[in-house]
Amino acid sequence: QTTSKPPPLPSPLRFSKFFQANMRILVTGGAGFIGSHLVDKLMQNEKNEVIVVDNFFTGSKDNLRKWIDHPRFELIRHDVTQPLFVEVDQIYHLACPASPIFYKYNPVKTIKTNVIGTLNMLGLAKRVGARILLTSTSEVYGDPLIHPQPETYWGNVNPIGVRSCYDEGKRVAETLMFDYHRQHGIEIRIARIFNTYGPRMNIDDGRVVSNFIAQALRGEPLTVQKPGSQTRSFCYVADMVDGLTRLMEGKSTGPINIGNPGEFTMLELAETVKELINPKVEINMVENTPDDPRQRKPDITKAKELLNWAPQVTLRDGLPLMMEDFRLRLGISKQ
Ligand code: NAD
Ligand code: UDP
Ligand code: UDP
Repeated sequence: QTTSKPPPLPSPLRFSKFFQANMRILVTGGAGFIGSHLVDKLMQNEKNEVIVVDNFFTGSKDNLRKWIDHPRFELIRHDVTQPLFVEVDQIYHLACPASPIFYKYNPVKTIKTNVIGTLNMLGLAKRVGARILLTSTSEVYGDPLIHPQPETYWGNVNPIGVRSCYDEGKRVAETLMFDYHRQHGIEIRIARIFNTYGPRMNIDDGRVVSNFIAQALRGEPLTVQKPGSQTRSFCYVADMVDGLTRLMEGKSTGPINIGNPGEFTMLELAETVKELINPKVEINMVENTPDDPRQRKPDITKAKELLNWAPQVTLRDGLPLMMEDFRLRLGISKQ
């Protein structure tokens, strides 16, 4: 006697059909900085059920504390380099360390996370018919020779340098996304994220905004890496999360740059942090690391046109919000 398989469930709301929520959303890397803010936003919608998958390499349960016992929320300790079987409608795939000191700490693991981790999430998206969004990075442009960077620019990346595990890893992840899209018809979205800052950043993760704010609060010199004229463009995390959800809900596959075009040299950033947080601290010039991009600024024409998105929070408005969070976590009282 043969048993016949049940027919496939109707798409797209097949899982939610059996639950109260209309949309079941997986967030990989959801215990991290951007991921936890994204979870906060997704959980505001009562029709969403959110599953976070994270190996806690750079993220923490603390970032999700307020959702831990919530009936529409689930947290799974899992490494995305291993296959994952869950039933979901959408996948926000963020899992990957973002700070240079963490992604360089175990570069082989970083490239596995980017390549095998993204492959697994695409295999999952294919099996369940989910839409998947990848958080790629402005690092795919490398040390850019075109300024500001439009999505059409193919980049200037060192394939064998110490940052390659991250930037080449993300470039392969983008390739995988498009190959699954063309070959298997998977619905994909790619965000190229530019430097993002805000509350819940790891205090000692070595990124420039977190370093300067922690140093200013502790009364230590601000460490500007040479030459100090290199530029970055900093996006406040609430703006970033707004851009990501618009991209997921919109019609364009991307890649789309999401970032704030306000461009600052690292010396200007140090002066601004000094002025806003602690005018008494010194600014020290220190050695830089290899392959540091000299300039970076997003061209956000596409995000404006296709997502009707533009950042709202300036650096001067965002820095004090982040400082408040750091002050509380460092246990430093207001002067
Ligand atoms: P983060 O380090 O705070 O968060 C990453 C999360 O992924 C952490 O919770 C970490 O524990 C988890 N993780 C790492 N490897 C994993 C693995 N193998 N399996 C499961 N979980 C894993 O970083 P973030 O700033 O929140 O960055 C989130 C995403 O955005 C990353 O994909 C990053 O590449 C991208 N991005 C961030 C920035 C930025 O400025 N923050 C810029 C460009 C791109
Ligand atoms: N995969 C997964 N979850 C799923 C389906 C697939 O993690 O629900 C993984 C699977 O283990 C494989 C990868 O995704 O390593 C790619 O899957 P796909 O079906 O595209 O390729 P294949 O299994 O045929 O190599
Ligand atoms: N940087 C700095 N002081 C620090 C940390 C970083 O001047 O304490 C510089 C670094 O050389 C780079 C820029 O700040 O030019 C941004 O570095 P970050 O690691 O934050 O991000 P990414 O290089 O990934 O853009």
